[in-house]
Amino acid sequence: MGKVSAPLVSQLRDSLRKTNAVGAAETLVPEESSQRTNVLKTPETELFQKISLDRPRSGFATPKPLAESDVVVEELEAGGQPRRGGVRPGAPPLVLIRRLKTPEAKPEDVDQEVDCPFKEFGCEQKDSAHEVKKHIRDDSALHQTQLGDGVRDLKQRTMASIEQYSATFKQIDSAILRMTRIACLYSSQFVWHVDSYAAALQKAKRGVAPVVFSRPFFSHRNGYRLAASFAPFGDGDAIREQNSVFVCILKGEHDDVLPWPFACPLTFTLLDQSPDKANLHHVSVRLTPKTVEANLPFLGRPKSGRNPAFGIQRFVPLSQMKSDGRFVYKDSLFIAVQVDVSAMKEI
Ligand SMILES: [Zn+2]
Repeated sequence: MGKVSAPLVSQLRDSLRKTNAVGAAETLVPEESSQRTNVLKTPETELFQKISLDRPRSGFATPKPLAESDVVVEELEAGGQPRRGGVRPGAPPLVLIRRLKTPEAKPEDVDQEVDCPFKEFGCEQKDSAHEVKKHIRDDSALHQTQLGDGVRDLKQRTMASIEQYSATFKQIDSAILRMTRIACLYSSQFVWHVDSYAAALQKAKRGVAPVVFSRPFFSHRNGYRLAASFAPFGDGDAIREQNSVFVCILKGEHDDVLPWPFACPLTFTLLDQSPDKANLHHVSVRLTPKTVEANLPFLGRPKSGRNPAFGIQRFVPLSQMKSDGRFVYKDSLFIAVQVDVSAMKEI
């Protein structure tokens, strides 16, 4: 229990005096005339009514309610004498009288030392029950100070706990955030190395093989099984102008526990391979699948080995795909496919 500074004590006393102002008249009544009827109706006598001034001095301990063991039942004959022997024929009906055994008086209780009820607030007074009663009556200022101390201490400890908890919650929040970021970095980005670009472009121009496919990859841990595809000479309306990039959903081992149709936004990025790493200009296009009925063949759960591909027809202009330029270096290019699974519940 901490010590209270002098100004605090007087402040506390002032405020208590104010709150007791209503009861002040009662405390002025002389003890003799009021005859033990709530002579001191201060807050602490209200709180600790166990030691009431109304109680007779001799029986300080509260009489226990009568228990089964306190009752003795004896059979008495009509004359009031305890019955002996068997039942005589023709004897008058027995009158059963229950005699109550009163609890034995315990005179030692009167002088036994008891603690002041304010012990847990720091009061060390220990005396006979009668003296403690007087102490409660006379030392109310001391007890108020002790209570004030206790409340102040409790307040400090509560504030400390609250601060500690909010610090812990902040730590948990930041740990979750970091975990989510790490999970995204490790699980949902696939970087596809497309080599022999010149040969692939020639084949596409001649219409022999308009599209090249990546190896299968997963959207995230225990996620969708996907494959990327790339049309070096473009696809559909974009042919001869811009290349195209796609993704398709393959049958995967986690399909049973994944949500369908597939709805994760995808980001395709053609990586800038310039030696000046401080000044890179990757080309990124984000695609958010529309889960409408017409798109179900692309986004629904694959019935055969793979769904038809969907993606970005107009990706990067062919004019930007010069060999040993930004994007084609040593006849290779790199396409990153990032699957945004943040809106999806982790399995
Ligand atoms: Zn005390």
